[in-house]
Amino acid sequence: MVQVYLIEHEPLTLIDTGVKTAESLQTLRAAFDELGHGLDEVERIILTHYHEDHLGQAQVIRDAGARLELWAHEAEAPIIESWTPERHEKLDETNSLLREYGVPDELLERQTRWLRKVMKKGPPISAATSVERVLRDGDRIPFKDFELGAIHAPGHTAGHLLLHEEGSRVLISGDHIMGDAVPFTENYYVEGPPKPSDPLARRPRFSGLTPYLESTRRLRRQSFSAILPAHGGVIERPDRHIEDALLFYDVRVQRIERGLRSLAAMGQEVTGWDIWKALFPKADPVEEMRTRMLMVIGALDELEAQGICITSRRSDGVLVHMHAPRP
Ligand SMILES: [Zn+2]
Repeated sequence: MVQVYLIEHEPLTLIDTGVKTAESLQTLRAAFDELGHGLDEVERIILTHYHEDHLGQAQVIRDAGARLELWAHEAEAPIIESWTPERHEKLDETNSLLREYGVPDELLERQTRWLRKVMKKGPPISAATSVERVLRDGDRIPFKDFELGAIHAPGHTAGHLLLHEEGSRVLISGDHIMGDAVPFTENYYVEGPPKPSDPLARRPRFSGLTPYLESTRRLRRQSFSAILPAHGGVIERPDRHIEDALLFYDVRVQRIERGLRSLAAMGQEVTGWDIWKALFPKADPVEEMRTRMLMVIGALDELEAQGICITSRRSDGVLVHMHAPRP
């Protein structure tokens, strides 16, 4: 379930939209009815990010007759305008990344077959739509009597936006801070996977965990009165939730550091996949590998950024990691 927010002011503005299903549309229509509005009255949609439970119904609301502008962060506009289920999953690119971190080809093939089967189960739950205005960090979003400030908080996605109202000190947080969970952070090649002609180069990547931690630490300094997240109810103790999110990742990064240290102590060349196997011996490698491997990769990136993981490449192109003492 996703929470969307309607700001009943001029212009009538919806923050996020829900997935594209008949049930979700019915729920949204019922909520609008209760407030005395029609979907066709929406004048502006602001997306916190492009994920399907946020973008999903934007085009549906347009098709219901709303003449609206859609605003989103500049890094997400191209994804929103060309969204397709296949593109969103980026299966092949993620496979290249997982291969670079040591996941065996045979397992990747089995896992891809399973994922494609899962994806084919129903119609797509999101759709592309046009973006009329792109937002950047610090932009002001005007209403008749007040404005919202846009905060760029990369991590969960590269262009995730938070919306802040200074008078009330309320923060609309999308998936960056959730009421009932901590978000995963995306990790993908920015300019495509390693080329067969040059498999040894480290390719530029968006590695979400490090910016997630940075952008979350920045929120510490502000004292919000409440956080309105997209999942898990209104957050009435914002400071504690922000600390909890940081602590959650701190514990996981430390766990992965310990895994790396103990495997390396046995004199072994350690891959991300070795760490996965050591940490999750009971997990199903087909159904539970992808998200947890992306967590391992994000943590290794963060440990590299902290200078306590040294990475090199084996002759077969797979990355191997060494633990370095804390500087
Ligand atoms: Zn999301």
